[in-house]
Order: sequence, then C-alpha cells, then structure tokens
Amino acid sequence: MALIKTKGLVIKEQPYKEQDKILTIFTEDEGKIQCIARGVRRQKSGLLASTQIFAYSEFVYYPGKNFGIINQSNLIEAFYPLRNDLTKMALASYLLDLMYNAYEFFQKSPEILKLLLHVLFYMSGGKAKNDLILVGAFQMKLVSYLGYRPVLEKCMICQGDQDVSLFSIENNGIICSSCREQTEGYLYKLNPAMLELLRDFLRQPIKQLKDREVNPAEAIKINDLLDHYIGYCIGKSSKAYAFYKTMLNPLG
Ligand SMILES: [Zn+2]
Repeated sequence: MALIKTKGLVIKEQPYKEQDKILTIFTEDEGKIQCIARGVRRQKSGLLASTQIFAYSEFVYYPGKNFGIINQSNLIEAFYPLRNDLTKMALASYLLDLMYNAYEFFQKSPEILKLLLHVLFYMSGGKAKNDLILVGAFQMKLVSYLGYRPVLEKCMICQGDQDVSLFSIENNGIICSSCREQTEGYLYKLNPAMLELLRDFLRQPIKQLKDREVNPAEAIKINDLLDHYIGYCIGKSSKAYAFYKTMLNPLG
C-alpha cells in the first residue's frame, strides 16, 4: 500500500511490546489515526523526539486496517516548555484528551487542529496573560465547532434578556432566574463578567483572548462549566480534567 505523508500532533502514547509505542496522532489530512512507532522507546531511536506526546511532526506511514506503521517522522515543534511546568502540562494534556474524546478515528478537523496548535504555542511560550483563558476559549470553540454552540444571548425558556444569570447544561444555554423553577439538571451561576467572558469566547479570536485579564476564580468556574457541558454534549467525560482538578486541590 502507498505511503501517506501528513503533518500531525501526537495526542496520546501507549507503550507497546518491548520498545514500541502506539501513538494516536491528530493529522491534518487523515484526521485522528493510530500508528505503531517501532523502536522509539530506545534512547538512540532517531524518531524519539518526533513521536513523543505533544510533538507536532511530519509523519510518513504505511496505512493499515487498525494501525498505521510509522516509516519516518520529522519534528516540527515539540512544545518543550509544557513539560517543565506541572500546571501547563496538566492543562495541555487536558486539551489533547478533549481532542481524543471529541473525534472518531479518521474524522478530520484541520481547523480545530490549527486552533489547538495556536493554543499550545501560546501556552508553551508563556504568551497568554492567563492560561485558563486559552483553555476556556478552546473548550468553547471546540464544542461550537462540533455543533453544540450554546445559546448565550437570551433565556432558553422565556426568550427574555433580563437577569440571565444561570447556565443550564441540559438546556444548552443561559436561563433567567424566573425560569429557574421550570428546569431540571445542572445550573451554573454566572455573574455579568463571566457571561461576558463566555460570549467573548464565541466571538473573539484566540489571538485577542490571550491578552485578556481575568479573575482566576471565575476562570476556573468557567473551565469547570465548559468541561461539564462538553462531557454532556459528546457523552464522554475527561479523565485528564479530573486529574488536573485533583492536582489543583489535592485534598479534594
Ligand atoms: Zn426565562
């Protein structure tokens, strides 16, 4: 079978046999794929750097029924600084986990891959005022791209725009306090700044959002809300997010 050449980001790695790895790669041209990288757990492997988690590389592989076999790979960007900061690493791992959960194998999304690469670039280079904003913006843009853009303009129940201070996971958007009794499920309380931030995640590009100042406690609540919302929409919750939360607050 003919070799395939495409750029991609390693979003998951698992040890395989003695010296190999099974990689999940989100590629530009083929979407989410799985490949076996042979011998890459040896220190001397020439493919070591280009097949690690977070590596964005150009891959050449033989396609297979379940697994491709990597023939060649050249590192484009390693995002090395992510590995030297536990919080950044936990947040970036969460973003990879979202990509893994949100897409089926061979499903393509070059736009979201490009967005993720920008986010990792800003996070790794310390270029954002607050990394939680990068995470929130990615969460919102991803879930919208998947077809679950939440409604943030008017109450989902009465269409009013007064006192819309609650986000309802099950209603896919905001509701006003008068409609609270008419709905079931999880509600997140939003202050005006938090609602504005959610709206800006939808309408502003990452490039602009990275310079945003934010109250850290509010940013955490927004990240929690969006993670919960994504989990509800795609039917899978992120273990990496749970790990990140444990790391923030080891005593629970
Ligand atoms: Zn209402």
